[in-house]
Amino acid sequence: MPKQEDYLAKLEGYLAQIDEWGYCYCRNCERIRYSSDLEATEQGIRCSKCGGYDLEAPGWVYCPHEKSSAVKCARAGKGIKRGEYGSECELRCNFRKP
Ligand SMILES: [Zn+2]
Repeated sequence: MPKQEDYLAKLEGYLAQIDEWGYCYCRNCERIRYSSDLEATEQGIRCSKCGGYDLEAPGWVYCPHEKSSAVKCARAGKGIKRGEYGSECELRCNFRKP
């Protein structure tokens, strides 16, 4: 039954994606969701708290609050604005686990 195999391959792909993300941003909950709060379904990756698929993928950026090196930002640097005195991020994301 190729259908079932397709389905499993898809799920595996989504699970791998969740693993790679580690965390992402749920637009519906307006907060960061870690991989333990994410689920893979046939439709894609969803937030297990709200059941929504409206997730933003993280991206590597130079965050103004982390001077040293690039960080994996759950908002992929969407909050970073360039100002007169350098860049600032207007989001208080706190994406790292305490
Ligand atoms: Zn959510």
